[in-house]
Amino acid sequence: MQLEGKTAFVTGSTSGIGLGIATALAKQGCAVALNARKATKETDELAAKLSRETNAKVIYVPADMSVAGEIHAAVAECEKQFGKLDIVVNNAGIQHVEPIHTFPNEMWELVLSTNLTAAFHTTKAALPGMKARKWGRIINIASAHGLVASPFKSAYVAAKHGMVGLTKCTALEIAEEGITCNAICPGYVWTPLVEKQIPDQMKAHSMSKEDVIKKVMLYNQPTKKFATVEEMGGLAVFLSSDLAASITGTAIPVDGGWVAH
Ligand code: NAD
Repeated sequence: MQLEGKTAFVTGSTSGIGLGIATALAKQGCAVALNARKATKETDELAAKLSRETNAKVIYVPADMSVAGEIHAAVAECEKQFGKLDIVVNNAGIQHVEPIHTFPNEMWELVLSTNLTAAFHTTKAALPGMKARKWGRIINIASAHGLVASPFKSAYVAAKHGMVGLTKCTALEIAEEGITCNAICPGYVWTPLVEKQIPDQMKAHSMSKEDVIKKVMLYNQPTKKFATVEEMGGLAVFLSSDLAASITGTAIPVDGGWVAH
């Protein structure tokens, strides 16, 4: 129970990596706020199930992470319901795969606002409380695509490189205040986000599903295996612990060796 007494807001956490991280934090005794765009019966049930399974307090806070006002209201709601907010995991993200010359302008804006600008707003909203208490953890879920590029993912790669820059800047600004900020850079992890991009990847590369998995997705991942949401959760727990107090401003690849190329 490394995180007993701590509280966390994990954005975009009804599936995939976000849910994996929220689960790992809750298992360590951390109270967790799950998030996606809307509140539904399923989201309430998901929070109740995670609370039952971990014995941690788990709430659900809806907010569209592409809308600044909703983000600030969500952070305020976490602070109200938990009494404080110690850990923010900026995880919500979307993908769009298309060559630049036909890439829709509105998709560029949406990918940038959801994958990058949202992290600026959660950080801005959560920092005053963290600074007042002299303790905080900001964990930005970037990507191997925050360190290297692939074709047809211009908005995503730009946003994730931006996330690594935001991480460094945040870390430097708050280095003396007991608050750390780090980026986790996953390689390919089998989640709904990855599964959903297979049809577009098949079209962009003129390949079968099997070839997209082997020759595009896992081609650069030397382990030839998808990383897991549990591995992301384990790193998020460590970065949230007191033992990680001197780790800040980093971009840590969890990518089966991809960026070692
Ligand atoms: P996912 O599609 O399973 O989860 C994305 C989550 O974000 C969902 O809960 C979704 O509801 C939420 N979300 C999307 N738009 C939102 C919005 N506007 N407001 C609130 N919530 C929103 O995807 P995932 O693969 O688990 O991805 C999570 C993060 O990890 C993303 O930032 C993604 O870029 C990053 N990532 C994923 C991989 C991978 O291979 N899966 C690799 C590197 C980085």
